[in-house]
Amino acid sequence: MKYLVTGAAGFLGSNLCARLLAEGHQVIGLDNLHSGRQVNVDWLASMSGFTFVRHDVIEPFDIACDVLCNLACPASPPHYQEEPVNTAKTAVIGTLHALENAARHNAVLLQASTSEIYGDPLVHPQPETYWGNVNTLGPRACYDEGKRMGETLCSDFTRLGKVDARIIRIFNTYGPRMRGDDGRVVTNFIVQSLSGKPLTISGDGSQTRSFCYVDDLIEGLLRVIALGSNPGPVNLGNPVEFTMLELAAEVQRLTGSRLPLVRMPLPADDPKQRKPDISKAERILGWRPKVELSEGLSRTIDYFRRQA
Ligand code: UDP
Repeated sequence: MKYLVTGAAGFLGSNLCARLLAEGHQVIGLDNLHSGRQVNVDWLASMSGFTFVRHDVIEPFDIACDVLCNLACPASPPHYQEEPVNTAKTAVIGTLHALENAARHNAVLLQASTSEIYGDPLVHPQPETYWGNVNTLGPRACYDEGKRMGETLCSDFTRLGKVDARIIRIFNTYGPRMRGDDGRVVTNFIVQSLSGKPLTISGDGSQTRSFCYVDDLIEGLLRVIALGSNPGPVNLGNPVEFTMLELAAEVQRLTGSRLPLVRMPLPADDPKQRKPDISKAERILGWRPKVELSEGLSRTIDYFRRQA
């Protein structure tokens, strides 16, 4: 099969491409290297079957493929908020261009949507049927609303019979090939611990997230593509929920860091809780994450130790 992966130089994109190449597929990786990294492209280029195209999805593209995985978009809150208009354009116009390309080449499209479409959720855990609680005016809106519009475009293209566009809603995912300066909590805690700095806790640290190891996420994503028909949106994430204080304690235990935590202000619109309801994924994909937090964090810490 010929796969086109937008955002191939990013964390999820590069891990996805590597898995596809290992399975013997032909992969064209597309990225503008804005938040994705050349080092990930170099890694993929060392495997057979990979072609890299440097391109910004804000501009149209025309590349033949059987499956198009649309992952291009900065995803870490500090990064996507740095250039909010660019983030919104990437999420909306980039998705439109991906859909147009998929329609032209009769390809199945896999849309990387996000738990952020649920905003600061009032329903817990979040099932796919929940419509969300997003502040349209806040600093996260460029990403949240961009991704919501991405879902709208995918469902319209599907309803119109133009593309079979499958939506996955990705909850917090971590693992090797994240950027050390990504700004998200897992990488911040690991990099801070390994460089002998105190861990930065936003707010009182009681807010929760549920962390999925990247290999589990990629497995779920591929199972959505392999389904015989479009299942509608599917949550993919690990349903085991932790407070940020618990995450900090676990990273400290695994790295041996003992410095006291440093408190930071809680960012605007920071969701108080997040945990996927994965019963749909379990039912239709027979999928459930296998890697526990301690194991996934150990592997990620090893990766960052090797980078040092
Ligand atoms: N956070 C933290 N310390 C950090 C970075 C983030 O306590 O150094 C908190 C952040 O405020 C949020 C949670 O960790 O409550 C997860 O943040 P992240 O940026 O990883 O992703 P989000 O789930 O908010 O998109």
